[in-house]
Amino acid sequence: METNNYQGLRERSDLNLTADLDPEIKMEKKRVDLISNCPIKLTTGDNLSSCDDEDDEYSSFPVKIANNPTLGRYLVARRDLKAGELILREDPIFVSPNSGDNTCFGCCLKAKNPRPCSTCGWPVCGKECEQIPFHSRNECAVFSSAGITPPLQPPYDFIHPAELIKVLRAVLISKGRTAEDAATWGAMTKLESHMKQREAIPKVRFMSTLTKNFIRGACHVGDVPEEQIDLILGIIDVNAFRHTLHPNNPLRMEAVKANKDVDKNATFLYPKGSMAAHGCRRTVRWETLPSGTLEMYVTEDTPALSLLTHPYVDLMKGTPERRRLLRDQFYFDCSCPRCSDRTELGTHFSTLKCPTCFEGNLLPDYPLHYKSPWTCASCHATKPSHFERNVVRGMQAEMKSVLEQCSGNNLAVVAGLAKLLGKYRGKICHPNHFAVVDVEYHLVRRMALMRKPTVDLLLEMKKLIHKYLDIAVVFYPGIK
Ligand SMILES: [Zn+2]
Ligand SMILES: [Zn+2]
Ligand SMILES: [Zn+2]
Ligand SMILES: [Zn+2]
Repeated sequence: METNNYQGLRERSDLNLTADLDPEIKMEKKRVDLISNCPIKLTTGDNLSSCDDEDDEYSSFPVKIANNPTLGRYLVARRDLKAGELILREDPIFVSPNSGDNTCFGCCLKAKNPRPCSTCGWPVCGKECEQIPFHSRNECAVFSSAGITPPLQPPYDFIHPAELIKVLRAVLISKGRTAEDAATWGAMTKLESHMKQREAIPKVRFMSTLTKNFIRGACHVGDVPEEQIDLILGIIDVNAFRHTLHPNNPLRMEAVKANKDVDKNATFLYPKGSMAAHGCRRTVRWETLPSGTLEMYVTEDTPALSLLTHPYVDLMKGTPERRRLLRDQFYFDCSCPRCSDRTELGTHFSTLKCPTCFEGNLLPDYPLHYKSPWTCASCHATKPSHFERNVVRGMQAEMKSVLEQCSGNNLAVVAGLAKLLGKYRGKICHPNHFAVVDVEYHLVRRMALMRKPTVDLLLEMKKLIHKYLDIAVVFYPGIK
């Protein structure tokens, strides 16, 4: 792996992009040319003029909001930033429990001895949690007057009630019953909803119908337009943060020592934090404190006006798989520098070995095209896109079968995974291919369970862990 993370970017400029392209590929190439340099650093006054600088509350933080038609609103650095610098701290504008057993509908923590709320009958820790306004003013009042008690009845019983409560809470807030609700709703509507893209997706349409029937029918909240419910579904789906508090955070360590549960099982929306754009190489890491407050830090020295990004999906997946996930779950085709680069910033995280000459690396001709052919860098043999998909799926299926079939026998799992690596690593896939690295990750976990490991085994584990971290740090700078 090259040490320069941006080696791949230079390689990309050598691509012959004027070769015979089908019309679909041509169109995508043009689009990519237009925006590929945009998300990294703003260079034109046009983008800056659309920055939102009116908010005094945020003037102490070194971030500002810019927007363009591709990304919508997004965060950029207001000035040069130093690695590790805190760039944003803000409270959520919206909180709601996630699905999960025993989650309190008030505080969103796992309730040790949940009991029914004395008004609505849904689970809470105790009296104090019953009175948390997000609960008492919203679903508690509606459920008690509509007589909705747990468990949910058909046709709503196959879905966790938390999924419907999220939308109901936001719908009630959107009615602007108080000045605070009106302000919250105003901030929520500044977040992207991808309404147009979502319309066409069957599972989105299904959830939309189910939620509308629940809210307008079962809950008797009929005075909110259907489009507003769709807008809310989109806003939550696209922008919600789920709680995470770094294990080393002193607040968490203190609370855990005091035997308190601090890991909220909640969905949060933040007025500015939710606007941070996705990047397949993060420049920002974040965590939420027990209170729900979001903190964002830059992971490396960052020049003024750079785009600040954090990942919406697991970055330890290769480009074709990651881009499909982003398209299916977040409704956009990522064209960030990593996605645009055939070698994924020099890591070769999706590179296969050529099945014709067995020597060269097989790379996508057009990494931003889902159906791009793959060509060998040595002998120039070409394979269609489904070749790559079949190889990756085949390897993932083989790993799954080793883990399932030998689940009770750790030695057999270690032997099975080692055999799988012997077949694929450096032969069918590049040694750094993400599916290979995934097998190695599982292998290390299994090796760690072995009793009395030999020095050789420990050295092998060390080698694999270092390899994993060397790749991970390219996508997640700031981890070491
Ligand atoms: Zn509680
Ligand atoms: Zn209640
Ligand atoms: Zn990307
Ligand atoms: Zn070849």
